[in-house]
Amino acid sequence: MLIQHILGVSGLAAAGLFIFGLKRMSSPVTALSGIVVAGIGMVVAVAASFLTVFDLPAEVGPYRTVNVILALLALCAGGGWAFLRGRKVEMTAMPQMVALYNGMGGGAAAAVAAVELSTRGVHAALILAVTAAGALIGSISLTGSVIAWAKLDGRIRNPWRFTGQRIVNGVLFLATVLVGVAMVAFFGTANSPLLAALFFLGALAFGIMMTLPIGGADMPVVISLYNAFTGLAVGLEGYALQNPALMIAGMVVGSAGTLLTVLMAKAMNRSLANVLFSNFGDVAVGSGSEAHGEMKSTEPNDAGIAMRYASSVIIIPGYGLAVAQAQQKLYEFVKLLQAAGVGVKFAIHPVAGRMPGHMNVLLAEAGVPYDIIFDMEDINAEFANTDVALVIGANDVVNPAARTDKSSPIYGMPILDADQAHQVYVVKRGQGKGYSGVENLLFFNENCSMVYGDAQAVLTQMVQAVKDLGA
Ligand code: NDP
Repeated sequence: MLIQHILGVSGLAAAGLFIFGLKRMSSPVTALSGIVVAGIGMVVAVAASFLTVFDLPAEVGPYRTVNVILALLALCAGGGWAFLRGRKVEMTAMPQMVALYNGMGGGAAAAVAAVELSTRGVHAALILAVTAAGALIGSISLTGSVIAWAKLDGRIRNPWRFTGQRIVNGVLFLATVLVGVAMVAFFGTANSPLLAALFFLGALAFGIMMTLPIGGADMPVVISLYNAFTGLAVGLEGYALQNPALMIAGMVVGSAGTLLTVLMAKAMNRSLANVLFSNFGDVAVGSGSEAHGEMKSTEPNDAGIAMRYASSVIIIPGYGLAVAQAQQKLYEFVKLLQAAGVGVKFAIHPVAGRMPGHMNVLLAEAGVPYDIIFDMEDINAEFANTDVALVIGANDVVNPAARTDKSSPIYGMPILDADQAHQVYVVKRGQGKGYSGVENLLFFNENCSMVYGDAQAVLTQMVQAVKDLGA
């Protein structure tokens, strides 16, 4: 009884810490402490779950020590691996890491369900159904996330598609659900292990089949969707185990993942169905109207000096800045401009980079103060009165085709109005397209000059050019 009380109170405390931590993650100023607070919540929940061994039925008694040792070994192996990998992972490889952790969460929920479904004790039909639903969603999230990881990491390069694929997937899903219903109905009979095995195989296979046809470029949204799935699966297993910490943590992750998925799709002006079924990012998909005019280019030194003599500069960072890892150099350049009296601001598009908040994290890493970083809706009106817009490693998020070209796959996506600045400099390595694979009409504008080169190398030259001017 006492143990049940302690578990209940610690579950509530952990849930409170998760929610408080999540709230603090909503601002870059408090995000780091939010992660620490939520982490403490997780430690409380995991530590408290060890108490359950003292509450086990007598016949399980002999296995108590073995179970505790196994759980501690699993904790050390998982925690140690995550600690080492997390320290080393590159910022551009973060979505892959999130995909793997997501998959493991879904897999853990499915494993809990597998144990529940293989115990022969009497289970209420509702508990069995909830356990099976969690198993289905968790298994899909596990294999789907692994495929998403492989695609993002370049290990699976081409989407796998064939005629009638959606029908095959639909039949596989329906068959799995039906086997799940039979498994619940015949629970405890001689056939139930076979039904359970078929059910898990079907769910795992569906995760693979559902993810394989989706283009690699859409994987960040898909990962966010699987994040929501994992949360839901964990919440359902929490209900089956009557564990409040699991229930609340699962629901928090599930709803946060769902919101994030919806926000990402909305910021790209796309529906979730479009993400899952449209083959976006493939070369064959509509590539918009032809661009007219010519691209002009200029040298890094000249662009750097022009910005030194401007009175206002807005910088638009994008995925290429993360690839070049040039955030420190960029901030060094910004400090030189500020010292010369130039007003510098950063404009962040909600889907710049390859994951939500990618650019904010990058700039925070370089020490850029938050008060010069602005969200799209807060800064867009300022471009028209700005001397220079410096687009660095960004492409789609400043493409005016999104406003005007109905044939473009990015039509309707809100963009940063960089084209309205008096002068635009675009730093990129060459003629490479953005994530959507379409030509950027901005690059052909009269007021736009390309500064070709790797962002790191270009910024190094800009910094030198401004330094050479002296005080
Ligand atoms: P883009 O991917 O559109 O463009 C990046 C540009 O960076 C490329 O055109 C590339 O051109 C350039 N680049 C690459 N490496 C370097 C380098 N080392 N130095 C200089 N330039 C470089 O990036 P954006 O940030 O503008 O747009 C993000 C896109 O990702 C949007 O379409 C968005 O919808 C999508 N997306 C974002 C998600 C998110 O959550 N943030 C999730 C899913 C998709 P070149 O090769 O010529 O150098």
